[in-house]
Amino acid sequence: MPTPEREHDLPAERLFFALWPDDALRQQLVRCRDTLASNSNGRPIPAENLHLTLAFLGRTDARQRACVETMVNAIQCPPFELQLNRSGYWPRPRVLWIAPAEMPEALTALAADLHRGAEGCGLRLDARPYRAHITLMRKLTQPAKDTDLQPLNWPVDRFVLVRSSTLPQGVKYEVVREWKLAEK
Ligand code: ATP
Ligand code: MG
Repeated sequence: MPTPEREHDLPAERLFFALWPDDALRQQLVRCRDTLASNSNGRPIPAENLHLTLAFLGRTDARQRACVETMVNAIQCPPFELQLNRSGYWPRPRVLWIAPAEMPEALTALAADLHRGAEGCGLRLDARPYRAHITLMRKLTQPAKDTDLQPLNWPVDRFVLVRSSTLPQGVKYEVVREWKLAEK
C-alpha cells in the first residue's frame, strides 16, 4: 500500500539566499572574470549563475522552507551600496572571486539575520565566519594574486531565495522568491 503523502515527505530542495546581479552588472562581472582569469584556465561560472550567497540552507523540506519564508518576512534591512573592489584566490578550491574590501553594516546584519533565522527553523548552516564574495571561476590552473580593483558599484535593494539543482550539464539556479529591502 502506498503511504499517504505528508508535507515532510515531499522531496527536499537545495536552497540558498543570495544577492542576484541585474543584467548590466552580470556583463561587468563577466568582463572582470575574463580579464582576471586571462592567464589561467579553469571552470568559468556562466553569466547567468553569477551571484553573491548570503546564506546557504542546503537540503530544505517544505515545512522548513515555509518556516524560513515567514522568518524572512520579519527581517528589517535598508537598501545599501556594495562596492566590489577586491579580487582574490582561495587555493584549496582554486576559486577566483570578487568581493567588497569593506563590508557594509547592512550586509553583515542581513546575512547574520538570515543565518540565525534559518537555524531557528531547524536548519544547520555552515559555522565558518561569513565571507561575502562572488565566485567568478573554479579550478583555476594558475593561482591568482589578491588585487585591488576599479570598484563595481552595486546598489542593493533586494535579495532572493534560489533553488539549486545539479544537472548532468552543470548546476542550475532558479530564483524562487524575492524580497525588497526597505527603510524602516
Ligand atoms: P555544485 O555544488 O553543483 O558544484 P554550486 O556549488 O555552485 O555547484 P551549490 O552547492 O548549490 O551550487 O551552492 C550554491 C551557493 O552556495 C554557491 O555560491 C556555493 O558556493 C554556496 N555554498 C555551497 N555550500 C555552502 C556551504 N556549506 N556554506 C556556505 N556556502 C555554501
Ligand atoms: Mg557546491
